[in-house]
Amino acid sequence: MPAIASIMKSMEYGPAPEANDHVLAWLARHETGFGHFIDGAFAVPADAAFIDVANPASDAVIARTVAGSAAHVDAAVAAARAAFPAWSGLSGHHRARYLYAIARTIQKRERFFAVLESMDNGKPIRESRDIDVPLAARHFYHHAGWAELVESEFPGAKALGVCGQIIPWNFPLLMLAWKIAPALAAGNTVVLKPAEYTPLTALAFAEVCREVGLPKGVVNVVTGDGAAGAALVAHGDVDKIAFTGSTEVGRLIREATAGTGKKLTLELGGKSPFIVFADADLDGAVEGVVDSIWFNQGQVCCAGSRILVQEAVAQRFTAKLKARMETLRVGDPLDKSIDIGAIVHPVQLDRIKMLVGKGEAEGARLHQAACALPEKGSFYSPALLTGVEPASTLAQEEIFGPVATLTTFRTPDEAVALANNTRYGLAASIWSENINLALDIAASVKAGVVWLNSTNIFDAGAGFGGYRESGFGREGGREGMLEYLSDPAEKTSGQAAEEKTAFAAHTDTLPAPEQASPIVDRPVIDRTAKLYVGGKQARPDSGYSYVVSGRDGKPAGLAGLGNRKDIRNAVEAAAKAGDWGKVTGHNRAQVLFYVAENLSARQAEFETRLRSLTGVSKDAAAREVETSIRRSFWYAAQADKTDGLVHQTKSGHVTLAMNEPFGVMGIACPQAMPLLSFVSLVMPAIAMGNRVVVVPSETHPLVATDFCQVLDTSDVPAGVVNIVTGERDVLARTLAEHDEVAAMWYFGTASGSAMVEKASAGNLKVTWVNGGRARDWQSDTEGQGRLFLRRALQVKNVWVPYGE
Ligand code: NAD
Repeated sequence: MPAIASIMKSMEYGPAPEANDHVLAWLARHETGFGHFIDGAFAVPADAAFIDVANPASDAVIARTVAGSAAHVDAAVAAARAAFPAWSGLSGHHRARYLYAIARTIQKRERFFAVLESMDNGKPIRESRDIDVPLAARHFYHHAGWAELVESEFPGAKALGVCGQIIPWNFPLLMLAWKIAPALAAGNTVVLKPAEYTPLTALAFAEVCREVGLPKGVVNVVTGDGAAGAALVAHGDVDKIAFTGSTEVGRLIREATAGTGKKLTLELGGKSPFIVFADADLDGAVEGVVDSIWFNQGQVCCAGSRILVQEAVAQRFTAKLKARMETLRVGDPLDKSIDIGAIVHPVQLDRIKMLVGKGEAEGARLHQAACALPEKGSFYSPALLTGVEPASTLAQEEIFGPVATLTTFRTPDEAVALANNTRYGLAASIWSENINLALDIAASVKAGVVWLNSTNIFDAGAGFGGYRESGFGREGGREGMLEYLSDPAEKTSGQAAEEKTAFAAHTDTLPAPEQASPIVDRPVIDRTAKLYVGGKQARPDSGYSYVVSGRDGKPAGLAGLGNRKDIRNAVEAAAKAGDWGKVTGHNRAQVLFYVAENLSARQAEFETRLRSLTGVSKDAAAREVETSIRRSFWYAAQADKTDGLVHQTKSGHVTLAMNEPFGVMGIACPQAMPLLSFVSLVMPAIAMGNRVVVVPSETHPLVATDFCQVLDTSDVPAGVVNIVTGERDVLARTLAEHDEVAAMWYFGTASGSAMVEKASAGNLKVTWVNGGRARDWQSDTEGQGRLFLRRALQVKNVWVPYGE
């Protein structure tokens, strides 16, 4: 009799297909083509062109959907706009009832949705059935709860209006749920554009909306390709764009929305590290790789595509991994015992092959599982590449396929350096039995989501989203709701900021000294304020200064005329001061209290300076200095109190939503209230652990340069605050374009705001601009508050499992 062990090895899997007749019948009913879902009805526009939708496992065309045009998008936006007043006017409770109904209906149709998703996308039924669809329902349940609570949990917050939502093809129904559930809960109406390869579950979802009696126009679905997406982005009556997709398209959208006032969230690509330390449970980590890079054929934005293994166990780990690869089964997505299904489209398959080929040409060694692949359809065997240099194509480019690279490291520091050696920052998975080490690495990795001894866990209760070029904004949890609500402290309307420039001609390039009236190359008055860089006074690189007018327009002094090089030096100094983000909130609070105290000690002097520099009355100067002092104390007090959260997610997990600073921030100050606006912007940013490069009021920069003396005497470490004076919009552009600057605040003109948003597209930095609207800096609701702290932070969700 054969031994049990040998039976286990030789056992063959029989086919275990999931029935799909109900989906085939549904598709047959729509044989002539699906229309858009606009204003509560499906309709094929008279001018419709169609896009074929194929099953990637067989290449057979299973449906036709309309290629949405700008006119179709227009109709959908009009329907969403018309529905907005009534929908946003409903009580949260009333909206919650609709969301519960949607959640329940998805649950009732789980099997239908799972089969349809697998046929449309190629993902194994095991995944669509056990992960995608239940999670989509969970999102609607969770957000039904937020709808119920929105008035009490977000007092004063309002829905934004019409949201344009664009999603990719890798998790079609789940991405829809991540987008639509929070938008509806907050009271917005929606125009959703699914991906052209995978529009079918969105159309089935639209049927659910109709069935539960969701008011017409609240959810609209326009199918089509990038052109339809671009038309939605460009539409003048859309208040927010929420996009999930590639970084490349995300960048285009950032540029297209610059200056429009549209709120924007971008969930983009990734190249996430999967870090295995020598003390890890190696078998667990191998299973982790399977769930990380071979889940959904590796077409996962947060896939652990870069495996980093500590050298001591690299050989053993690689051998185990290769052995496990041989047991993976690739095949028909509707077969319940398949591990890996089909790649979404032949175009994507070609891209995977092209990138792997390029990697091999660059010297990487390819190991591919010896799986039998089906004859038809887009299939690819799981692949592992070794000998991959950190700067090579395979280590840097998102492949979006079942392809992992494996690199070794020696020390934890080296692991962090390799992990962060990417322009992305979406996720990381860390494997170690040493909780101290794992949490230390979690804190050091630049990623919006970190899983310890686990991977690819998602829940509606936790925020998901990236750092760096993986985008900005969060989906899920309390963080996600904030993206669909207007903050009552945000200024979305109101007077234009009164902006006088110190420079006669407003240009993008520095004017030559002899042409520009305010620029002189020799001191004419008593003093020339220098720049403040790395804790020291610094001469401007140009050697030029500009005349600053004071009371009655008379020259009051000279300020350094900073240029691109000065900004670069200041950013470099700020980058070196990274320890500021690591010290305790208590330490930062102490320093900030000291700043506040020293400002207080020089109250009279600052009042006099303000009067002579700006010409304000004695009372106004006194009020400005007084508020600046009080505000400095307030942010000092906040430094150790702006806590994160522990989210309620899966059982056996602590999910920590940790507040982290961005790193280096650029700040461009308004002209008005030169001391108070400077303090109001700089203090929250540094209280949260950021280092800043500040362009102070262009017309009255000398108050800020005086402030350097306060910083010098208050133990603020060198490089934490850097001040570059000069032409604000020229300097702001350089900051917005700088790759080392992770976030940028701009408070100036409408055109300057647009310029900053557009220029930030390079590294997709997080921006906060005023759109040219004036803020009342004296007011505690407009000039101070939690909004400023939130804008100075990014949230990292760290998943810590517990239990044996
Ligand atoms: P993609 O950017 O090509 O397309 C995404 C969506 O944008 C599609 O609906 C597409 O039609 C539309 N689109 C294309 N060009 C457009 C334009 N100019 N303007 C507006 N819309 C346009 O991405 P993809 O290939 O469908 O998806 C894969 C990418 O999505 C990967 O980079 C992946 O990492 C990313 N992704 C990110 C997340 C996340 O949460 N961060 C989740 C899933 C996928």
